[in-house]
Amino acid sequence: MTSKKEFADVGPVAPSRLGTQPVGEVAEVAEGVHQLKVPIPIPLVYVSSYLVEGDGGWTLIDTGFDYGEGKVAWEAAARSLGFSLEHDVSRIVVTHFHPDHLGAARWLQETSGAPVYMLDSEIQNSRAVWEDGDASRFVDHLVRHGMDRETTERATASMRMSLALPEKMVALEEGEELPLGPGMARVVRAPGHADHQIVLHDEGRKILFAADHILLKITPNVGLWPETAPNPLRRYEESLRSMRDLPVELVLPGHGPIFHDLQGRVDELLAHHEERLEAMRREIETVPKTSFEVSRKVFRYGLSIYERCFALAETLAHLDHLVLQGRAERIEDQELVRFRAS
Ligand SMILES: [Zn+2]
Repeated sequence: MTSKKEFADVGPVAPSRLGTQPVGEVAEVAEGVHQLKVPIPIPLVYVSSYLVEGDGGWTLIDTGFDYGEGKVAWEAAARSLGFSLEHDVSRIVVTHFHPDHLGAARWLQETSGAPVYMLDSEIQNSRAVWEDGDASRFVDHLVRHGMDRETTERATASMRMSLALPEKMVALEEGEELPLGPGMARVVRAPGHADHQIVLHDEGRKILFAADHILLKITPNVGLWPETAPNPLRRYEESLRSMRDLPVELVLPGHGPIFHDLQGRVDELLAHHEERLEAMRREIETVPKTSFEVSRKVFRYGLSIYERCFALAETLAHLDHLVLQGRAERIEDQELVRFRAS
């Protein structure tokens, strides 16, 4: 086996040969652990759910959108693995509140009768966003950071649709151990992409179910949204550093290829954000700019309005981080928030 040090010298972290099945299909990626690529109706194309066989039934990790093609894939996967969604599911674990992970949880619960497990604070957050969501707060946030109101309202209509939450939600605690297949997995809080996201670490088998915390090929969106706690990028980087040396040989992410080199990928992600911080700092060197103006410079053109919101929130998270590092200042007036390098 190549050591991680040698790997780092030979270029970017390589994808695994595991999990290369087409979208909609399931493949075994570790003993008793199956990856299902659930189709989703957004440009990411699929979310990876994991189905883990245990003595008391199957554990399902993440669910996809509440979406017909996704449900067809779930039914086909259960059939091909020889279990029944109605009778053999003991637990549904959702890593975070985003609709590509939580969206089909209610349907899976109604089908199987199994409870949905989420971090305690993520249950509260999901209720706040999906049941009591205040779209005007979302619009005001984006407008205050420089996006025009009309675009913002159009984007919000597609991003803050309602999502029916499962009825039976069970709270997970950070640090708790869950039986998972033949082993146990520890619930690790992984803020950044979402404040209350979790990853699951099976230390015995050196497997990390990484959700959207550590992805290959794409970098997880780390944004500052109206409901986000302060300084998401700092919390993301701290979390990455704390996971870098975990005993892990297999990383099972929520999107994109499976991979093996956790340390290498953490280093790449940290370096990526450092480069982005510097690129954004240069944009505000001479003239103060809003997050939206900076985002239009540092992200490629041709983004959908939905993607432009993500670009804005991600830019804002970086500018906020520059302020925290003393490399920029925040200038507010009645209407807008701008940033200037200091
Ligand atoms: Zn996702």
